[in-house]
Amino acid sequence: MYVVTWVVGLTGGIGSGKSAAADLFAAHGAAVIDTDAIAHDLTKPGGGAMPLIRAGFGDGVAAADGALDRAAMRAVVFADPPARKRLEAILHPLIREESERQLAAAATPYAILVVPLLIEAGDYRKRVNRIAVVDCAEATQIARVMSRSGLARPEIERILAAQATRAQRLAAADDVIDNDGELAALAPQIERLHGNYLALAQRLG
Ligand code: ADP
Repeated sequence: MYVVTWVVGLTGGIGSGKSAAADLFAAHGAAVIDTDAIAHDLTKPGGGAMPLIRAGFGDGVAAADGALDRAAMRAVVFADPPARKRLEAILHPLIREESERQLAAAATPYAILVVPLLIEAGDYRKRVNRIAVVDCAEATQIARVMSRSGLARPEIERILAAQATRAQRLAAADDVIDNDGELAALAPQIERLHGNYLALAQRLG
C-alpha cells in the first residue's frame, strides 16, 4: 500500500525556499521525506543506484570514491541527450520506492513529501493528497541561488527555463507559501498550515 499517511506534496522552483519550509514543518513534528535527499543518497559512494548507473553508462561516470561523478554524467547527457531519460529510468523508480518506504514508516498524522519537480512530474501529483507551493519572484530565486551556489546568472536562468513557470505552479497549488519576504515571515505561515494539515489528516485520513 502506498499512502499510509496523509501526504502533502511540497514544491517550488529552485531557490524558492522548499528546504527552509520543510525544516519548519519538521520542527512541528511532521515527517519530511525529501526526494532530492533520496536521490543524493542513491548516488553517493555505495548508493543503491550506482551499480545500475555504472552498468548503464560505464565506470567513467563514477568518481574514485564510488559516488556519481556529476560533471562526467553531465558531459554524457550533453553529448547524448537521450541518456538523461535512461538515467531517470534508473533513478526514478528507486526514488519512488525509497520515498514509499519512508512514507510507510512515518508515524505522524501527515507527511511532507518534498518534490522539486512535482508540477512537472505528472505521476507525483496523483500520489499526494494536497499540493503546497513555496512561491517567490523569479528575481528572488535567482538572487538566492547565486549567493548559495555561486552559479552564474545565465546558468540559473537556464535551470529556471527548464522548470514549470511560477504561474503553472500557482495554478496547481492548494496552498501557497509566500517566501518573497524575510525568512521570519515563513514561520507563521507554516504554523497555520500545520494546524490545517493535522485537521485535514484527521478528517480525511
Ligand atoms: P530550495 O530548497 O527551494 O532550493 P532553500 O530553502 O534551499 O530553497 O533556499 C535557497 C537559499 O535561500 C538558501 O540559502 C536559504 O537559506 C535562502 N533563503 C530561503 N528563504 C529565504 C528568505 N525568505 N530570505 C532570505 N533567504 C532565504
